[in-house]
Amino acid sequence: FWATVQQGPEDPILGVQDKFNADKDPKRVNLGVGAYRDENGKPWVLDSVLKAEDILQKKKLNKEYLPITGAADFTKLASELAYGKESKPIVEDRIAVAQSISGTGALRIATGFLSFHYTGPQVVYIPNPTWGNHIPIVEQTGMKSARYRYFDKKTVGLDFEGMKEDIEAAEPGSIILLHACAQNPTGIDPTKEQWKELSILLKQKQHLALFDMAYQGFASGDVSGDAFAVRHFVEQGHQIILCQSFAKNLGLYGERAGTFSMVCSSKEEKNRVLSQVKRVIRPLYSSPPLHGAQLVATILGTPELLELWLTEVKKMADRIIDMRSKLYDLLVKLETPGEWGHIKSQIGMFSFTGLTPEQVTALAEHAHVYMTMDGRISMAGLNDHNVQYFAESMSKAVKG
Ligand code: PMP
Repeated sequence: FWATVQQGPEDPILGVQDKFNADKDPKRVNLGVGAYRDENGKPWVLDSVLKAEDILQKKKLNKEYLPITGAADFTKLASELAYGKESKPIVEDRIAVAQSISGTGALRIATGFLSFHYTGPQVVYIPNPTWGNHIPIVEQTGMKSARYRYFDKKTVGLDFEGMKEDIEAAEPGSIILLHACAQNPTGIDPTKEQWKELSILLKQKQHLALFDMAYQGFASGDVSGDAFAVRHFVEQGHQIILCQSFAKNLGLYGERAGTFSMVCSSKEEKNRVLSQVKRVIRPLYSSPPLHGAQLVATILGTPELLELWLTEVKKMADRIIDMRSKLYDLLVKLETPGEWGHIKSQIGMFSFTGLTPEQVTALAEHAHVYMTMDGRISMAGLNDHNVQYFAESMSKAVKG
């Protein structure tokens, strides 16, 4: 049956993990995958999550199916976290929301829904560069993907003028995918003023804003501050689509908890939209998984756990910020040729180092250090035990 099936390419991010696993050197460092690691390089199950697990276990809940749109307590609390409790569309009950298989699943519901129902141009503009999965998630539904400029190689910063030009040039009513905060892979976000300009520009062009928020809290340690772009667009009357993930900020990677939501113009419209969202979800996986949503709902809905979680998100963000400054200081101390200020100024889990593919390869072969070929490193993979070794290896690779 399958003689004509060709070997597919390796996933550029998950492939790094395989190479790391195959390397048994004790000095090996994995900066590939975007998952938080504690100060000893270990995955961290948050205390707030462990406490929520205890609460759930005592409740002895059943394992019945959830509705197609998921657990209502979860989607309510999750939406409040993203949009803010006082947000107008929340108060007016006009957000169509469904639980999703984490952020990826939310994006897939979005593109599924848009491919069926969006009457504007079926083109999703994504930043260049972006998280690699955005393109297939768009294109598998038959929609087209296009790019807008985002990264300026010269300044290792945001190409804001290029970004605006490309969004301006897109056909009116195009779909513009925006990383809400802590852009992956660059770690570069628009400033508040730039977000305000983008809001005006998208409005003028009647573009549809599709927000991907996979890192709320990870950028600054402040969950409300990190929701600035989303909340500003909504305040300005944009009927945004939002894809929300709890993988990173709650460390629930494998639990697959997230939401897909759309701001509608009325409660009546919300109900109509939701009836069609269900028709997208049903043939994909019928209904979402229970456990992650129960954990999130327990944490967000229990004041002591919420407070604990907020300190834990901040702790993760702060440790990453600390690593940024340590890495920067070491690179400078080692007289590494180049300007490394971006290591400190970039935001969130990743740093786009500017290392070339040759340097990335050399680091893997000679130093057992693994990262994606675009030179992106997960800052969370660094800690006090390996940052010196990494800086020395990186410095050597740059010096050639
Ligand atoms: N969007 C972006 C920008 C991401 O970086 C990720 C995770 N790497 C996701 C969405 C989705 O992650 P998940 O499906 O694990 O929530």
